[in-house]
Amino acid sequence: MGETKILGSYVRDGWFEASEGFATIHDPSTEEPIARVSSRGIDFAGVLEHARAVGGPALRALTFAERGAMIKGLSRALREHRDELLALSASSTGTTAADGSFDVDGAGGVFAYYAVQARKLGDRRRIVDGAGAQLAKTEAFWAQHAWVSKQGAAVCINAFNFPAWGLAEKAACAWLAGVPVIAKPATSTALLTERMVRILLDTGLLPAGTLQLICGSTGDLLDHLGPQDVLAFTGSADTALKLRGRSNLLEQSTAVNVEADSLNAAVLAPAVDPESATFKLFVKDVAREMTQKTGQKCTAVRRIFAPADAIDAVQAALTARLERVVTGNPADGSVRMGPLANAAQLADAERGVDELAAEAEIVYGTGKRADGVGSPPGKGFFFPPTLLRAADALSADVLHRREVFAPVATLMPYSGEADEAAALVAKGGGMLVTSVYGDDADWLDAFLAGTGAHCGRIYIGSEGSAEASFGSGAALPQTLHGGPGRAGGGEELGGLVGVTRYMQRVALQGERSLVDALAGVEEE
Ligand code: NAP
Repeated sequence: MGETKILGSYVRDGWFEASEGFATIHDPSTEEPIARVSSRGIDFAGVLEHARAVGGPALRALTFAERGAMIKGLSRALREHRDELLALSASSTGTTAADGSFDVDGAGGVFAYYAVQARKLGDRRRIVDGAGAQLAKTEAFWAQHAWVSKQGAAVCINAFNFPAWGLAEKAACAWLAGVPVIAKPATSTALLTERMVRILLDTGLLPAGTLQLICGSTGDLLDHLGPQDVLAFTGSADTALKLRGRSNLLEQSTAVNVEADSLNAAVLAPAVDPESATFKLFVKDVAREMTQKTGQKCTAVRRIFAPADAIDAVQAALTARLERVVTGNPADGSVRMGPLANAAQLADAERGVDELAAEAEIVYGTGKRADGVGSPPGKGFFFPPTLLRAADALSADVLHRREVFAPVATLMPYSGEADEAAALVAKGGGMLVTSVYGDDADWLDAFLAGTGAHCGRIYIGSEGSAEASFGSGAALPQTLHGGPGRAGGGEELGGLVGVTRYMQRVALQGERSLVDALAGVEEE
């Protein structure tokens, strides 16, 4: 039996340990209990008040450059503790070294990126928004939009799949905006987040009240959110619906930024030669996007559309790649894909494949739990890569609606027409990312005309990008992460776009020189 430590919460600048109401966290490879979590007894109203009264003013007193220096130091601290964090990621969340790096190095990377953006913003505290406008006959009456810090707290609730990066991508933007953070990781993978928070606090760089951590339930925290606060949520569409529909949030127009489910699609354009770099990139990307982090990525490919005359070649090439994936305990060096994060995810994946199988046939894998290399038989939440194939994408319903958060995707044929491909993609109801592979600019243009409004990001794989691209799954800080409709309607990252989600845009009107000076417009 492994050691079961009690995870603390960091509230009002001190560590809190509950004495009752515990949930247990398990090592997903062995099912051994490794930690217990509870937030019972926390004064949640006090947590919010502390962030607003202590953390907010301290952050807002800093210039962007000073906030950036703080964030840069946090990035350095994560790098210094990289090995420890990767080991904890493997043992507590079941990641391989590569998958753990995606989360842990991704966290350091997002901090490093925003530190640079902050330095560029310099010694200011407001962000200029667009060009000014003359309102009267002269510049004596002028207007300029600017972003100013909100004066509340950011409650950042994250999903289980990115316990390190999930905190970093929200906190970097909030802190740069001048807003303190109350972080709530998913219970099943909170061990890694808790350790990361201790490392960040130990730097001494974070002013009092700027970071608090809730491990376990949020209690009545959300009841106390007000008009200056932000609720940033990543998780399932069902939970998002419950949270965003809360009457106190609606009544006060509290900002809510949601990243939710997504039936992401990968589309192969017509007439792509199976020997071409574009085709090979398509197959390589799809296999990786199915299996990286055991398919537990909001950006993972769930639906694969191939022209009917190419679908057999796609299936053969994809299957050959999936055959190479060794599933098991990441402690074993041969393993390339770890377990699912917890028992509930495993049960949901099995149920999900059963549902997809009503409209498609399993052509690779089993859609059922399997034993994993390096773990005792019968133990561990292992799930093999599973590829399904449907005959008719247009009449399918479940395939466009059911997200199976596991290494599972369905291959479907289409005619090769851009309009049809776009219509099929759109059936997902709003996506974080769609990837499309082809070199014909006219076909891609027609595809974009039909899909652009349905996706937060469109990744184009072609001969020219084959060597350089990292694949469609990486949510990079330079580009938007979020999508319309079912994907939550939120916007994170995307350079300063994600920062402004924690700020208020205000229109300043008055004499031009005063307005420009107040907004922070720099002289040409
Ligand atoms: P989830 O069950 O919705 O939980 C997400 C987070 O919300 C967890 O921290 C959870 O805490 C918390 N939570 C649940 N109910 C709550 C409530 N009533 N009040 C306050 N917090 C509450 O989702 P999950 O199982 O962790 O994650 C899987 C889902 O997230 C997938 O559907 C996936 O598509 C989506 N996802 C989306 C993105 C994106 O960027 N769009 C990224 C990753 C995952 P507990 O763990 O303590 O219940």
